[in-house]
Amino acid sequence: MIRALYFCVFNSMNKQEQLKELNQKMLACSQCVLRGTCTQVVPGEGSAEAEIIFIGEGPGKKEDELGRPFVGAAGKFLDEMLGTIGLSREDVYPHTKITENKTSDEQNNLNQKNKLFGVGVYIANVVKCRPPENRDPLPEEAAVCWSWLLEQIKIINPKLIVTLGRHSMERFLPNQKISQVHGTLVIKTINEIGKRNFYTLYHPAAALYNGSMRQTLIEDFKKIPKVLEKIKKES
Ligand code: URA
Repeated sequence: MIRALYFCVFNSMNKQEQLKELNQKMLACSQCVLRGTCTQVVPGEGSAEAEIIFIGEGPGKKEDELGRPFVGAAGKFLDEMLGTIGLSREDVYPHTKITENKTSDEQNNLNQKNKLFGVGVYIANVVKCRPPENRDPLPEEAAVCWSWLLEQIKIINPKLIVTLGRHSMERFLPNQKISQVHGTLVIKTINEIGKRNFYTLYHPAAALYNGSMRQTLIEDFKKIPKVLEKIKKES
């Protein structure tokens, strides 16, 4: 028991440390021209223990200003949807929360969530620097960031990778159509990261002002806890 606990704490610190180190490398990256035009790098944020990683396309204006993913209008919508499955943006920082004083009800709630989702969530993007005027990243720009993203996935080792939008989906599932694959679990092996579970969603920014896409996204999002439960049962 004590050994298991020690392993857990040691392993968790190790993952956090590894992520921190990786973030430092990303912050110092200037392997493509985007670093010259963006304000700052947006590596991503969340818990190293997350069982779900959400992957967007790339930082927008607000994200570029603040250095955090999904903090503009799309981020607000993402937060709302996290709320519908019992998660909040605060769960991105569960380690900070754990050190706070909590009532036993609050701790029980957190324990329940952690049981279902692991410890919090992680939010990242395919591209870490904002392309000028939000243009699509060029292949050489995307290639540099692709290796950062694979490193993030290797360290966090999430049970479920949720792609947000077509561009994010296409990085992992290049032969799929988002209109067909959204809201379904796809299992695929990718050389660098092995066999993984993917769940595709429409991008919150695209769905924000499109009534039917918005509804579809909300419905797909609500299915995430069941999808995760199924993955855990079958693993
Ligand atoms: N859109 C994205 O794809 N990522 C962000 O971080 C913000 C908006």
